[in-house]
Amino acid sequence: MKNKGNAQKLKAFFKKNIYYIVMIVCILAIAAMITVAVVLGGEETTPVPAPTPGDVTDQNPPDDSGTVTPPDDTPDTPVDVTPEPIIFGLPVAGGTVIKDYAMDTLVWSSTLKQYSVHPGIDYKAAEGASAVAVYDGVVSSVTYDQLNGNVVKIDHGDGLVTIYSSLEEPVVSVGQSVTEGTALGLLGTSATKEMSDGSHLHFEVSLNGEVADPYDYLPAGDK
Ligand SMILES: [Zn+2]
Repeated sequence: MKNKGNAQKLKAFFKKNIYYIVMIVCILAIAAMITVAVVLGGEETTPVPAPTPGDVTDQNPPDDSGTVTPPDDTPDTPVDVTPEPIIFGLPVAGGTVIKDYAMDTLVWSSTLKQYSVHPGIDYKAAEGASAVAVYDGVVSSVTYDQLNGNVVKIDHGDGLVTIYSSLEEPVVSVGQSVTEGTALGLLGTSATKEMSDGSHLHFEVSLNGEVADPYDYLPAGDK
């Protein structure tokens, strides 16, 4: 019966010291966790791969002001790729502007003897000067009518068309590919609506069928 007596003693011991036993077990458990944490923390000193720039931009660093920064929805690659701006050459080498583009204000027409808008730029130049293509494109029409005279239109794509009026006989034909500087025809007086301006080129720009400001495309400083 000695064993029974020992068991009884042990039971009594546990009953008496249960709180101390639980406390020691808890302390041992906490100590074990701390030990594991220290061991794992020591392992973390091994080099980790550096974050890629893409990972960095996706993170929102905490704001010092305390305000919440909304998530950055900007995609990594821009959706709209802005095309290179088109810059024309001059339609007449060494030409002088004799009547400016004026769609917002009325300018005096010495031929029509009235004020009207002027949807293009008139260039005058020395005798024998040619109008030239301001940009690469394809000749889309060569026409004649009494008011505008001989007119060459060049399609540059994306709805952009340049129009050269009041030419002498045009030297290009429909469908012909031209590059910047290709001669189109001599400056003339064929446009009766601008007859009294003398031999000149009336130059217009059209974007998607509407009159456009030539100075949006001509090199800066030529106005
Ligand atoms: Zn004009």
